[in-house]
Amino acid sequence: MADKSFNAFEMAQKQFDGVAEKLGLDQATCDLLRNPMREYHFNIPVRMDDGTVKVFRGFRVQHNDARGPCKGGIRFHPQETIDTVRALATWMTWKCSVVDIPLGGGKGGVICDPHHLSEREQEGICRGWMRQVAYNVGPFQDVPAPDVMTSGQHMIWMMDEYERIHNGKFPGIITGKPLGVGGSLGRTEATGYGCVYVMREALREMGIDIKKTKAAFQGFGNVSQYAVKLYKEYGGTPVCVSCWDQADQKSYTFLKKTGIDADELLKITDRFGGISKEKAKAAGYEVLDGNAWIEQDVEILVPAALENQVTKDTAPKMGKNVKLIVEGANGPTTPEADEIIKQRGIFMIPDFLANAGGVTCSYFEQVQCNMNYFWTKDEVLSKLDTKMTDAFLKVSALARDKKVYMRDAAYMIAIQKVAEACKLRGWV
Ligand code: NAD
Repeated sequence: MADKSFNAFEMAQKQFDGVAEKLGLDQATCDLLRNPMREYHFNIPVRMDDGTVKVFRGFRVQHNDARGPCKGGIRFHPQETIDTVRALATWMTWKCSVVDIPLGGGKGGVICDPHHLSEREQEGICRGWMRQVAYNVGPFQDVPAPDVMTSGQHMIWMMDEYERIHNGKFPGIITGKPLGVGGSLGRTEATGYGCVYVMREALREMGIDIKKTKAAFQGFGNVSQYAVKLYKEYGGTPVCVSCWDQADQKSYTFLKKTGIDADELLKITDRFGGISKEKAKAAGYEVLDGNAWIEQDVEILVPAALENQVTKDTAPKMGKNVKLIVEGANGPTTPEADEIIKQRGIFMIPDFLANAGGVTCSYFEQVQCNMNYFWTKDEVLSKLDTKMTDAFLKVSALARDKKVYMRDAAYMIAIQKVAEACKLRGWV
């Protein structure tokens, strides 16, 4: 469950402050970058299937657009808060910068629970969300995308509403679209695969053979499913995933020490990334407590569910063989847990580098939409691999040279570039 004392935005600001000091940024640049440039908060009235009207709260936060139009997903979540959206928008700015794509950072959200909404009601939320910000987002201003509990279908409803309002075809308004309606091949795989491309590079630098490693994954949604798949293709052994159980309102870990099979698990996974306990047991999986994923005897941990999962309480329980953490989710590790990880000398690939594959492919989607010419999947994935590998190598080289933690090195590269863009534009 969401920890009410945890504030993702305070954490994002704390991380920024530490790096701003290391970089010696001036006061005006700090003031500009530690808060979003713009925020939209609004109501979305929706006529429900039973005839009543329900009002949902929606947000769009534009953190910084000095390097290009804002970019970032829209999350549907019952515990969504404006501070979560602010944090995610901030991280998007750093993410686009660290992988060197010409975009800024934004994020959106709606407080709602799609588990309890019909397709028609969800369409109403999507169209209502877009009506509220149709003049504040756009291909050259701010480009939304899917995030937790939103999909290509949601994006198409939003694009369709935008096109009705602006009377034209604007496939570059939104990314994560289905194939055939402006979507890019490889987008579904991009974030999970991106995590594994940088994992591969880190292991190479550490002199560890991926085939001799085991990994534990938290989450079994879009990111984790494809990360598990590619990691296994590279010869690694994924031993468990954990996911949220909607009926029990708690999470469980699904463990098979000889190696889990993503395709087998997918057959018993619902569209929200929840796995059937009974069917998993029948398929030979041990069903354990939700936090058990972090305690397994593995070399690699991939938190790929939600923010605030590796904490001062859970980090001490990490298995003694853990050598590498790849943050698939946004903000999964709290600053206190980061200290524990640093002290143990575990190699960290921070979220905004590890999971940048999604936004990089979204950028490729925009490029293809603008050209109206679409690449093959191999072309997309090989360009993605190049971008992710290049970004990883730059960050790890800086971490080595300056003897700083990987998260700090990634922040230093990302923040420096955004600060420079603001300066060149004459904003500070
Ligand atoms: P998703 O909705 O497809 O899946 C989320 C998964 O996490 C599900 O399996 C769910 O059951 C599980 N989960 C939720 N709460 C949990 C809990 N308390 N304990 C254990 N498991 C839990 O989401 P996703 O798209 O895979 O995104 C996962 C994370 O990655 C989020 O932080 C998201 O912001 C981030 N991310 C996603 C993308 C993308 O392209 N999808 C890109 C960058 C970052």
